Amino acid sequence: TVRVRYCPSPTGSPHVGLARTALFNWAFARHHGGTIVFRMEDTDKARSTEESYAGILDLFTWLGLDWDEGIEVGGPHAPYRQSERTDIYADALIRLRTSTYAYDCYCTNDEVEARRKESGSKVIGYDGFCRELTGEQQAAFEAEGRKPVVRFRMPDGSITWNDLVRGEVTFETKFVPDFALCRANGDPLYTLVNPVDDALMEITHVLRGEDLLSSTPRQIALYDALKELGIAKVTPEFGHLPYVMGEGNKKLSKRDPEAHALAYRDQGYIPEGLLNYLALLGWAIAADRDVFTMEEMVAAFDIKDVNANPAKFDIKKCDAINTEHMSRLAEDEVGRRIHPFLVKDGIVSDPMTAEQEALVGELLPLIAPRMRKLTEASGLVKSFFVSDEEFVIDEAAKAKVLNEKGLEVVQAAIEALEPVDEWTTATIQAALEGKLVTEMELKPRVAFGPVRVATSGAQISPPLFESLEILGREKSLARLRAALA
Ligand code: GLU
Repeated sequence: TVRVRYCPSPTGSPHVGLARTALFNWAFARHHGGTIVFRMEDTDKARSTEESYAGILDLFTWLGLDWDEGIEVGGPHAPYRQSERTDIYADALIRLRTSTYAYDCYCTNDEVEARRKESGSKVIGYDGFCRELTGEQQAAFEAEGRKPVVRFRMPDGSITWNDLVRGEVTFETKFVPDFALCRANGDPLYTLVNPVDDALMEITHVLRGEDLLSSTPRQIALYDALKELGIAKVTPEFGHLPYVMGEGNKKLSKRDPEAHALAYRDQGYIPEGLLNYLALLGWAIAADRDVFTMEEMVAAFDIKDVNANPAKFDIKKCDAINTEHMSRLAEDEVGRRIHPFLVKDGIVSDPMTAEQEALVGELLPLIAPRMRKLTEASGLVKSFFVSDEEFVIDEAAKAKVLNEKGLEVVQAAIEALEPVDEWTTATIQAALEGKLVTEMELKPRVAFGPVRVATSGAQISPPLFESLEILGREKSLARLRAALA
């Protein structure tokens, strides 16, 4: 059986790399009918925040990346917040410390660095100085008031694993220095808690970013020790997902605006679109196909197909894919999803009044097929909700379209529409086309642009004749007249 984990650290705003890693774990587990464990790696007290924890939860909930065990839902290995598992780590630490797999180390970083400079060694990291201290030497350090860290003793030789993405990977352990498992005050470190929890939670597959590749030989060595000590049963398989590169072919970093995963929600992307795009960062459903659903991804996902080469983050492609998924949404679904944006922009109330609901319902067929992002809804519908006093025309549109010539067109449109009693899309169209196109021989763009700007306030709006029908005779004429004033 497959057991994977999401294990973010709640430090800062969640990154798209986290979402991509989670998606691949999710697709892998769902493909194999496995279990997903959601663990929060919040042992770094100085950097972990509740705000970040909440943001991560929001992100997973919004994306619909669900989990079977873990934070919020519980499960057989609870608790799932590392900050609540200190006794477990203290116990593992004692067992390692009293075994030959780890030792107490009294060196300061400065001392280690000074020795490295002196010896001219190129290996950064610990040099094994405290590996074989006698009881006397330890007592002397203690007498100086030093507090030891517990350091893992890397075995000699090499460590090899068959990476699910990259194939066989080997590290010579002479380049993998002994590493600390806790701070001098006893606080356990990532190096310890992450593999201990993976062991106790019986994780079978660790799929994570390539930035963690160098911690894998250490974790595999630690697993061997944990197995000997009866803490771990098996070593999981590892797969390292490719880097995501941003502008200038540099690793996408927290400073890049497109790195913030929740910003996509706020900018009106839909989860279907973002997930599909994230899937392409290292995977493809087929050589000639970019757009697919998560159901299709789950069915097709094979970790062996993940590409080890860095993936380039391309916001234009992300937009195009989102647009495609928007166009697949049913109208009433678009209606549900734009609601929070309309509320935020002060256009409708929450919940909507019956009147607002009816108007949104009338507008949906006009706007849904035209939207690339949910944030576009407010601009498209706003003019239908405002009173004539609140109605304003976009300055740029006014300057460009409602010039002298444009105002003549508006005047003619008023004359054409005033006699129209039965106010429907067809009668409006007939009247305007008859007057402006047939009689005045204007090109459609010249004819309808000014009418559009005068009645909607913008150059981009839902289809004109339908819009005027929905706006109503009185309001349409009032706005046209106001444009002339
Ligand atoms: N908490 C670690 C991180 O967010 C998890 C790394 C891992 O998947 O092992 O980087």
